[in-house]
Amino acid sequence: MSKDNNILIAKSAGFCPGVKRAIECVLELEKQGHSPIYTVGPLIHNKQVTDSLEAKGIKAIENLKEATDKNGVLVIRAHGITPAFQKEIMDLGMKVIDATCPLVKKVHNVIEEYAKKDYDTIIVGDSKHAEVIGLMGYTQNKGIVVGSIEEAQNLPPFEKVNVVSQTTQKEETFLKIADIIKQKAKICNISNTICHPTKQRQTETTKCAKDADLVVVVGGHHSANTARLAKLCSDLCKNVIHVETSAEIDPKIITNSKKIFITAGASTPIWLVEEIADYIKKLRENK
Ligand code: SF4
Repeated sequence: MSKDNNILIAKSAGFCPGVKRAIECVLELEKQGHSPIYTVGPLIHNKQVTDSLEAKGIKAIENLKEATDKNGVLVIRAHGITPAFQKEIMDLGMKVIDATCPLVKKVHNVIEEYAKKDYDTIIVGDSKHAEVIGLMGYTQNKGIVVGSIEEAQNLPPFEKVNVVSQTTQKEETFLKIADIIKQKAKICNISNTICHPTKQRQTETTKCAKDADLVVVVGGHHSANTARLAKLCSDLCKNVIHVETSAEIDPKIITNSKKIFITAGASTPIWLVEEIADYIKKLRENK
């Protein structure tokens, strides 16, 4: 296939290190012959990947009661969980593998350190997201999740507050919210806990989306970080599509756009990004 210089694939596309580590961990368990392998919640929000894991006998469960075979292994996913839920899992007496991303663990530690010193915790993020639910468990019941600037403006004053972020938040929003909270607190510690891979992805996306006529964001429709990336792109480029597979792409939008930038969420496998890039290249060759 000829090289199309007007198609750019993000260097940061593909699994983030935390997701990669969790996937490698379950695949290694499968290779070692462990069965069944349960993951507490889907390992990632990408249907193509979870389907292929399921075919290998790696089963996502929503409830511990579904872990019926006590000879199996339970894997805690990259998002992490609360200490109370961790205890519940350990009490089952099954083999447990903790695949919490080390960068999420760092956030647990920061929250715990300040909560022990009697700080309130503000988590900038999505209250329903599994990572944030896990983070709340470290706040010693003194945590509040803030999802927007408006919510931050409505917060009461604080004596001592520690502001942290869900690891995949948009940095600009986090910094604005942290600044509002700072004005409301006598003592305020700001811990910018957006992970480095997310920052890199956002920086590259911001730079490349601005110059593109079309941005194709590849990733699961249920993936919050992919949706956030698509939102970031739509603030910078007037044509943005968020697709899970090439079947969702309207060929006309491809042939009508000159410069195309392809990026992907943290839970999108690189093979899916490459498959979509090949499909786009073929459409342009045949136009
Ligand atoms: S997004 Fe960052 S913190 Fe979250 S799993 Fe990936 S590398 Fe870890």
